[in-house]
Amino acid sequence: MALPIAHWAVALAVTRSRDRKIRALAALIAVLPDFDFILVWGWGLPLQHFHRTFSHSLVSFAVVGLLWALLRPNFLNELSAKLVFVLLASHSLIDLACTADVVDHGVQLFWPLLDVRLGWPLLVPLYRVFAESPFSLEGALLFTLLESILALLLWLLLQLFRSLRDSRVY
Ligand SMILES: [Zn+2]
Repeated sequence: MALPIAHWAVALAVTRSRDRKIRALAALIAVLPDFDFILVWGWGLPLQHFHRTFSHSLVSFAVVGLLWALLRPNFLNELSAKLVFVLLASHSLIDLACTADVVDHGVQLFWPLLDVRLGWPLLVPLYRVFAESPFSLEGALLFTLLESILALLLWLLLQLFRSLRDSRVY
C-alpha cells in the first residue's frame, strides 16, 4: 500500500522544470498507474486481477513513453518521453517496496512478458512492528507516516544527486 505522497515526492525530485504546471503534470503522471482502481471501484472488477497488472508494467510504460514522444504537444517539451517513462517506472518501484501481500497484490512489472507478481517488501516489517494490520486505522496512519519519511528521504537523496551532477565542472 503505497500512498500518493511517496510517488509525488519522487516526481517532484526528478522533474527539473521550474514551471509549476509541468511539475503538477509530472506528479499526476507518477500516480497514473493507480488509476487502475477505476476498473475496480468503478466497474466492480476483481482487485487481484486488475490492480498492479498491466497498469504497473514496464512494457506499458514504454508504450506510453513512445506515444508521448509521438503525440506530445509543443508546450510540453520539458516533459520528455524519457521523463514520462521514469515517472511511471518510479511508481512501480515504490509499490514493490510497499507490497505486504506479494501473491495477491504484488506488481506485474514485466506484464505481458512475465505473468508473475513481484514484491520487495522493504517497509512491511516496519509496519508490522507497530501495527497488527496495514488495513486497520493505526496501520493506515503508520503507512502514511513511514511513506512520508521514505518520500522525504528519497526526495533529499535525489536533490543531493541532482546538485552534485549540476555542480560538476566540465
Ligand atoms: Zn500503484
